Amino acid sequence: MTKIIFFQAHPDDLEHKCGHLMHYLATKTKKNYIIKIASITKGEFGLPGPQYDKFKGELLAKIRTRELFNAEKIHGISPDNIDFFGYIDGFIPFNKDFVNRVADYLKKERPNIIIVPEAIYSWYYHMDHINTGRAIFYIIYKKLINFTPILYFYTSMHPNFFFGFKKKDIKTLTYKLIECHKTQQWLLRYTMLPYRLFNRFAGRKLHGWKYAEPYRRVYFNEKNLQKNKPTLIVRIFTHFFSNLPWTKAKYPQEILLKLKEN
Ligand SMILES: [Zn+2]
Repeated sequence: MTKIIFFQAHPDDLEHKCGHLMHYLATKTKKNYIIKIASITKGEFGLPGPQYDKFKGELLAKIRTRELFNAEKIHGISPDNIDFFGYIDGFIPFNKDFVNRVADYLKKERPNIIIVPEAIYSWYYHMDHINTGRAIFYIIYKKLINFTPILYFYTSMHPNFFFGFKKKDIKTLTYKLIECHKTQQWLLRYTMLPYRLFNRFAGRKLHGWKYAEPYRRVYFNEKNLQKNKPTLIVRIFTHFFSNLPWTKAKYPQEILLKLKEN
């Protein structure tokens, strides 16, 4: 049995990035895989503007947990295989405490493969995502666990692995997945066009497929280290994306303090 853990910062992160690979692994491979999802937060601040403040916090966390369960039901992944780390949306740190908690989790779970947000060459520079990827990269790189799982990044600008899917799969799977995240429609619906373009572009890398989900396998053994090296263009874009003010959200202090107390 091969155990695969998909990490995400927020409950809806995986749908656009890994939905097709997850579906394939969970439903088409005669159950040779144990698939788990680790969600670092419950997305408790994932609504735009102060007019929604009354929903933010515990209520939104509860709703988004249910939304995640509903989406994973499409893959046949049960809530028993979904773990939460209890961090607060917008405040995933890269510090000793977080690294240790993730390392303990990995020691307990012993996955063969881990799929996480890109930590370095990302086009999605939300610090929650970056720090999630960063912690896992750091744990493997520094050998804080006594095994070396295979690591893949999603949201990477330097992909080297592509998972192909068909145009009709966007209707039959992607839309169904994102429809489960009712509270996130304000965002997810508008990302469908870039999603199509991006995955169509990735599909060109894969013979025989029109669309593909791009991933970056990270190499830790001496022999393959060269493959981790990005092109100059990727480095320039990384600099560009890392300076976009995507994550400068204002958090309602009252709700934040209450969440931190718990
Ligand atoms: Zn996210």
